[in-house]
Amino acid sequence: MAENTRPTALVTGGGRGIGRAITLALAEAGFDVCINYAGNAAAAEQTAEAARALGARAFIRQADVTDPAACKALVEGAAADLGRLDVLVNNAGVTADKLMLRMEEADFDKVINANLKGAFFCCKAASKIMMRQRYGRIISISSVVGLHGNAGQTNYAASKAGLIGLTKSLAKEFAARGITVNAVAPGFIATDMTDAMPEAAKTATLAAVPVGRVGEPGEVAAAVAFLASPAASYITGQVLCVDGGMGM
Ligand code: NAP
Repeated sequence: MAENTRPTALVTGGGRGIGRAITLALAEAGFDVCINYAGNAAAAEQTAEAARALGARAFIRQADVTDPAACKALVEGAAADLGRLDVLVNNAGVTADKLMLRMEEADFDKVINANLKGAFFCCKAASKIMMRQRYGRIISISSVVGLHGNAGQTNYAASKAGLIGLTKSLAKEFAARGITVNAVAPGFIATDMTDAMPEAAKTATLAAVPVGRVGEPGEVAAAVAFLASPAASYITGQVLCVDGGMGM
């Protein structure tokens, strides 16, 4: 990281939910930020305002991470807005839950394209910039489901397990280049995504959380901010679970 300049970060899906909390935790830690959104510009603008109130320079950029050209433009545009790109957080994600017998190819593709291929496209674009800088931090938001599986989420679990493979492989490719690559695996966190779950599924999921409560987006963001900080300089290729013990 360049001395005497504020570090910078791009957060995909940074306008709402866990992405919003990550953006604000990074702003609080002294980062300038670029917030990507897909369709919800108002949420992204509100998050940018909240980041500015914390003293950060904050930009917003629309891009659908399923589109490779849009990802390239997003990452290059964020680096231009910010002056450099120290941290990429691959947070954008979707679900399309169904039991296997009802799951169509389109349900599988939708989730893989957003959660896994989107991260691949953003990593690829960020790699070039970070290799030039000889510094970078890539942090992808996986899930406990990617480590342990979950009935009704074969598509989502495959995408989140894929992110772990991508993380570990990229960590090995970039280890000698000053770039660390890690994943954070949240458990059951209170956001729009989990609010949409049926009540019975919420109750069953909560029963599997040893600490006995739903997690807050800020609790995931704290782990991301740690991995983005100088304190995590010797950590790469790891999966940090933030799950109230769910995956033990
Ligand atoms: P959320 O509240 O549903 O927010 C999803 C975010 O992803 C939104 O900012 C959305 O942008 C963005 N997004 C979705 N599709 C996109 C696309 N094609 N291109 C760009 N952005 C896109 O979800 P969340 O709970 O905060 O989840 C954030 C991440 O954590 C996801 O990767 C999710 O899989 C993971 N996770 C969540 C939990 C949990 O319990 N909540 C647990 C484990 C892992 P717009 O605002 O523009 O729609």
